[in-house]
Amino acid sequence: MYDLVVVGGGPAGSSAAIAAARAGLSVVVLEKGERNRDKYCGGGISVLTQNSLRELGAAEALETFENYAEGHVLVLPGEKVLVDAIPGLGYGLVRRSVFDAKLRELAESYGATVKHGFEASSITVDGDKVVVRSRKGEVVEGRYAVVATGAGNFPERALGFPPLRPENLGHCWGTEAEYPVSAEVERWRHEYGFTPIFLMFGFVTYGYMWVFPKRNHMNVGMGTTLAESARYGRLHLEGFARGLELARRMGILSEPGRLRVDRSWLIPGKPRAVTYSQERRVLLAGDAAGFVHPLTGEGISGAVRSGRLAAETVKQALDKEDPGLLKEYEAKWWADFGEDAYAYGLKLTRLMYSSPALQRLGLSMVFSDEEASRLLSMLLYRADRSASRRLYEYLLKHFPELLLKQPFAGKKRDYSKKRLKAG
Ligand SMILES: Cc1cc2nc3c(=O)[nH]c(=O)nc-3n(C[C@H](O)[C@H](O)[C@H](O)COP(=O)(O)OP(=O)(O)OC[C@H]3O[C@@H](n4cnc5c(N)ncnc54)[C@H](O)[C@@H]3O)c2cc1C
Repeated sequence: MYDLVVVGGGPAGSSAAIAAARAGLSVVVLEKGERNRDKYCGGGISVLTQNSLRELGAAEALETFENYAEGHVLVLPGEKVLVDAIPGLGYGLVRRSVFDAKLRELAESYGATVKHGFEASSITVDGDKVVVRSRKGEVVEGRYAVVATGAGNFPERALGFPPLRPENLGHCWGTEAEYPVSAEVERWRHEYGFTPIFLMFGFVTYGYMWVFPKRNHMNVGMGTTLAESARYGRLHLEGFARGLELARRMGILSEPGRLRVDRSWLIPGKPRAVTYSQERRVLLAGDAAGFVHPLTGEGISGAVRSGRLAAETVKQALDKEDPGLLKEYEAKWWADFGEDAYAYGLKLTRLMYSSPALQRLGLSMVFSDEEASRLLSMLLYRADRSASRRLYEYLLKHFPELLLKQPFAGKKRDYSKKRLKAG
């Protein structure tokens, strides 16, 4: 019997396994996919994720970066453009099949067992142990379980957790297609002075479109709420095509014809009402718990951090032989990343995404003001642990002057040159 059974071998599950193995627990990861399983994702590794991986003892996962964006270009309707970069901060860009496999390998190198091709179908409690059964009838037992099965409905189906509510779910679609990336990157570097990622607004309600360069693949997608997606599916596909066309006109993508929507997936925008069960001896981590930043959709940092916190909580429960200690998990994740993301991030989301008009207004206000744009950058990179609160409070405090300034924001704002020089 293992001390800890981790169900799901994405970033959350592997991080839980690494932290548990390093703390001396016997741990097994049950992953339904094969070693090279892919997860549909932008593959943007934020500053918070980079730092969290280093703290976890998984810095080697950063070696899977295929590209590195030192800044970003935001495009608003009317082709208003904001260019920004903050010295020393940026996004690593990975292919998830490679990144996730590396994390599972690292978990193995610390002593965890990883079973690929194990699709958990049920989790039951038998006295003081959890029993996980696969679809094929295999059985694995442990003292506790961390469920890190992503944004699907496994926690409610197998364990009776309250569901991720449809109004709190997002939906993304796009592609990661083979593409001559280096030629584009060379042109971008010439135009902006660094390699950016691109975020484009106005082609989808309540969300955005992104362009993320990998080594030989371009990842382009867009996301909105699940409800909007169900209502306007066809319009959103047209929006994707219009976004590509604008990207071509603006010199962002010279071969948009290579990029067609071929995948889609869900993304949570708010945690479940409950993320642990003492009776079932289980904790939820990553997307299974709903830990994605609601404004940006960045979820890998929440996966890595919650995986580690879950493992630490299990270790305490084992050490004290007290499953009652599992309840401390919720206070831990709330203090670590929850308050900033879900008290303030959700307020920002309501401010920015309640209607297309508000989104335009909010972003124009940010574009027109150097400090607001710096705070947005810190939030996009997740480089400041209270970035959502700081941006929200700044926008509220300076609302009247930003409102007056925003119509004069001009076509292009380039804060990056000044910041790169100062840095
Ligand atoms: C289109 C899109 C773009 C995104 N872009 C970004 C981005 O650029 N940066 C960022 O930080 N975040 C991004 N996110 C969010 C990010 O992908 C997730 O937050 C992250 O993958 C969560 O990690 P996880 O380990 O919790 O879940 P997952 O990565 O979904 O991993 C879950 C694992 O569990 C396995 N599993 C599922 N069910 C079972 C079962 N029954 N038994 C055994 N194994 C099972 C799966 O095979 C999978 O390997 C994006 C999301 C989407 C949808």
